[in-house]
This record gives sequence, structure tokens and C-alpha cells, in this order.
Amino acid sequence: VVETPAPVAEVAAPEVHVKVSSRDRLIFPDSDVTKGDLADYYAAMAPLLLPWAGRRPISLVRCPQGRGKKCFFQKHDAGSFGEEVHQVPVREKDGSTEDYLWVDDADGLVACVQMGTIEFHGWGSRVDDLEKPDRLVFDLDPDEGLDFADTKKAAEDLKNHLAELGLVTFPMLSGGKGVHVIVPLTPAAEWPAVRDFAERFARALEGAEPERFVANMSKAKRKGRIFVDYLRNQRGATAIMPYAARARAGAPVAAPVSWTELRDIDRASRWGVRDRDELIARAGSRALAGWGVAEQVLPDL
Ligand code: ATP
Ligand code: MN
Ligand code: MN
Repeated sequence: VVETPAPVAEVAAPEVHVKVSSRDRLIFPDSDVTKGDLADYYAAMAPLLLPWAGRRPISLVRCPQGRGKKCFFQKHDAGSFGEEVHQVPVREKDGSTEDYLWVDDADGLVACVQMGTIEFHGWGSRVDDLEKPDRLVFDLDPDEGLDFADTKKAAEDLKNHLAELGLVTFPMLSGGKGVHVIVPLTPAAEWPAVRDFAERFARALEGAEPERFVANMSKAKRKGRIFVDYLRNQRGATAIMPYAARARAGAPVAAPVSWTELRDIDRASRWGVRDRDELIARAGSRALAGWGVAEQVLPDL
């Protein structure tokens, strides 16, 4: 049952100093959400977003003219975002070093919105310890034609298999089509080991139930199956952050849910930017207490 949460002491929205221009520009024309609305959403949600999206290298989906117009993924910036958006040098495969963006407060989030950002995607590790992931995510991507019920069933199966391995997991509606199954980690193992675990786990699912799961990215092999996208768990890959908005019709957001709640939810775009107050109340509800938090390391697989 999706509880309507009792009113809880609301987290005070932090003061924002970044100036937002063109507040009336329609960013989601179909939902009547303006740039100002989106900035206010991120400012109010900052206390809920930052425990996940803060202090991580981030990639932004920017749509300066709004959703439906040209959007692009951005990892780097030469400083045009302002001092609220920080940079961390990251060693690349080819030996060069690139600066990646990160934020740690409401001003940082709003500075990104000011630059046309809708979506915030994050690495699986923090800027303080880039080589050791603090989370693993299985991004379940259903083939077109599958029901949300199939995706929920798949998520629940992952939960059970991971529980057998001693791992606590948390589900998140992506805001798009699928569900992300999140495994919090105490930063210990480095990227190659974490990726290896994720890949082995996804391939084992496919091996056990090839008619339901596929661990291969190719769309052709997805036919009627759910792609267990384990590739979010390699160094440099990102996933949408909890409570981030999505550049999709209806202004949906990525929404944490409990395993019990998930059973009664009918779509991954259940909550959106306009549901801000409900999202804040939900975050304080019993169902979501402790969401995303667990001290655990990966077992051998
Ligand atoms: P859905 O539930 O609709 O699949 P999603 O957020 O899981 O929503 P995916 O297409 O499965 O969307 O992508 C998973 C993640 O991969 C994204 O959240 C994003 O962080 C990353 N990603 C997707 N496309 C790109 C891209 N063009 N460049 C960089 N990262 C990307
Ligand atoms: Mn996905
Ligand atoms: Mn994917």
C-alpha cells in the first residue's frame, strides 16, 4: 500500500543565493513547468537529493530551450557554471586528466538549473574516494511491450537473489520506464572488482532464466526480455540520482520507494516535479526510513 504519509516536520529548504534568469521559460511545455519551478524544486529538494547526488562526479542533461528541444549530456565545463559548481580532476584511461563537475549544496544544484540542466546523473563513487564505489546499481531496462508488472517482478527477483548473497537493496523508480535496484556499499573494493561482481551477477540471472533476463546491451537480444544493465557499475559510468527530474513528458522524477510500496505502483513515472510536497512528506514517512543506507561489502561471486 502506498501510504499517504502523516505530516512530518518538513526539512527546511535551504537559502539559495544563485540568481535564476528567465524564470518563466517553459521547460516542460506539456506540464506547464517553468525554469523557475524547476529551480524551486531542486532548492526545496536539496536536503533529500544531496545525500545521494552530493560530492559525486556528475553528468548533466541540459536542455537550455526546454524538453523536446535539443538536449545534451555534459560532464565537463570550463568554469561557466560559476563557483557553486566544483571540479575534481579525474585520471582518464589514456593517462590524461579531466575535470569533472560536482556539487555539495542547493546553490550548486540551482546553478546547474540556471544553465539549463534538467537531469543529474552521478558516478558510483564520491570525489573523496573516486576509486571505491559506495553503491552499485542494476538498471532494469524492459523491452518495449513488457508490462511494468514484469519489471517489478524482475526487481523483486534481484532483491531476493541479492539478499541470498547477504546484500540489502533499495528500489528506485527511474522516472522513465524502468526500476533501478540499488546496493549501498561501504567503500572498500575498487572499480574492477565491483564491475566484475555486477557483470557476473547479471550473467548468472541470464543463465538461469534466459527467457526473462538478458545481460547483453544489444536491442535485438532484448526481445520480450529485461536487460539487466550492469554497465552502470564501471568507472566513469553514471545513473540518474534519486529525486532528480527527468527530461521526459510529464516532468517525472526518479523516486525512491520501499519494496512493499513498489508492489502497488503502476509506472516508473509515478511522481514528478509537481509532486514536490508529497515527495518531501514521503521521504519522512516510515516506508522510506533508512532508504538507501546499509553498511555492507560485496561477497565473492
Ligand atoms: P529508464 O528507466 O527509462 O531506462 P534510465 O535513467 O534508467 O531510465 P537508461 O537509458 O537505462 O535510462 O540509462 C541508464 C543510465 O545510463 C542513465 O541514467 C544515465 O546515467 C546513463 N546514460 C544514458 N544515456 C547516456 C549518454 N548518452 N551518455 C552518458 N550516460 C548515459
Ligand atoms: Mn534504465
Ligand atoms: Mn540502461
